[in-house]
Amino acid sequence: MRAAGSYFRLRELESACEPLSRADGREVINLASNNYLGLANHPKLKEAALEAVRRFGAGTGAVRTITGTMAIHMELERKIAAFKNTEACVVFQSGFAANAGTVSAILGPEDHIISDELNHASIIDGCRLSRAKIHVFRHRDVAHAGEILAGLESVSGRKLLITDGVFSMDGDIGPLDGLVEVAERYGAIMMVDDAHSSGVLGRNGRGTVDHFGLHGRVGVQVGTLSKAIGVLGGYVCGSRDLIEYLYHRARPFLFSTSHPPAVTAACNAAFDLLLAEPERIELLWDNTRYFQAALAAQGFSTGLSQTPITPILVGEARTAHEYSAALFEEGLWATGIGFPTVPKGRARIRAIVTAAHTRELLDRAVETLTRVAKRMGILAQ
Ligand SMILES: *Cc1c(COP(=O)(O)O)cnc(C)c1O
Repeated sequence: MRAAGSYFRLRELESACEPLSRADGREVINLASNNYLGLANHPKLKEAALEAVRRFGAGTGAVRTITGTMAIHMELERKIAAFKNTEACVVFQSGFAANAGTVSAILGPEDHIISDELNHASIIDGCRLSRAKIHVFRHRDVAHAGEILAGLESVSGRKLLITDGVFSMDGDIGPLDGLVEVAERYGAIMMVDDAHSSGVLGRNGRGTVDHFGLHGRVGVQVGTLSKAIGVLGGYVCGSRDLIEYLYHRARPFLFSTSHPPAVTAACNAAFDLLLAEPERIELLWDNTRYFQAALAAQGFSTGLSQTPITPILVGEARTAHEYSAALFEEGLWATGIGFPTVPKGRARIRAIVTAAHTRELLDRAVETLTRVAKRMGILAQ
């Protein structure tokens, strides 16, 4: 890995996750986190967590099916189900566990999965664990997904069509409207992973189903509590039957201990904030438009992005990693990403704007990105 230039060491965050953070001994503008709404260090979430520790302790003592379901866990599931306009919700320890645990629970070896080629690793692992047959369609290609389903029409077994709501490397939005139509035409179950879309897209951040106006037409909606919600966890929303089934069959739910009270209470507070203060999401989008327009004006390419995830394309992986390291030295934290995470020649810095960044910080970020890019020959002088 060292020889290939893919070796990394972990950076140490020495402050809370804030727009201006301390990491590895210096103050840096933080464009590396998924803390879209700035909730990770929000006073209301912290207060809720502290209060839950005082009343309910540090841990729950067991998995959800033993002592690990407290009233606050059920409150969170009811709250998310209402927010997503679905009958029911189950919360998992992480978004990763939600995807892997759900796909492997609802499908078996006789079934078929039709999956976007750029879907998240946790979906891929869930598909493999299910032992269903996996059919990959070209990125965001609804017609290709339809062709695959047409070819499976006379084949027995359940069919599950899966896409990310927003793709984490390019910040592009999955074509959920088209995919839902194809799923309905061929009787497939539709599943969307809204990890990067919940709290970002749709009214009050309800996600891609709301963004596209598809309520009632997506059988399985996955989300995470670890990104815009600012804490930790994942969830699945759907019919009461689906959720009851997952309570009985999803292996991370059955065999791994539930969230501690602090995590659950902080998530509850975060959903209250999404409903009470939707202006935070407006701010996120205002900042996104401002930042991406400023980058374009300097001559940067931000690829296919339609969301706050902002890839800044630089070409080769080594360049991306060197650029990221040089930016950090100049007080800007943005992750370098190269092959094999993204295709060869499409290496990039990934900058994620949040609602909490001030215009002054975004101006400084663009100035730093530009100055270092010119010095390194990424942008013309
Ligand atoms: C981050 C992410 C996950 C995993 O969520 P965690 O809560 O961090 O485990 C799942 N799917 C997608 C698309 C993601 O981006």
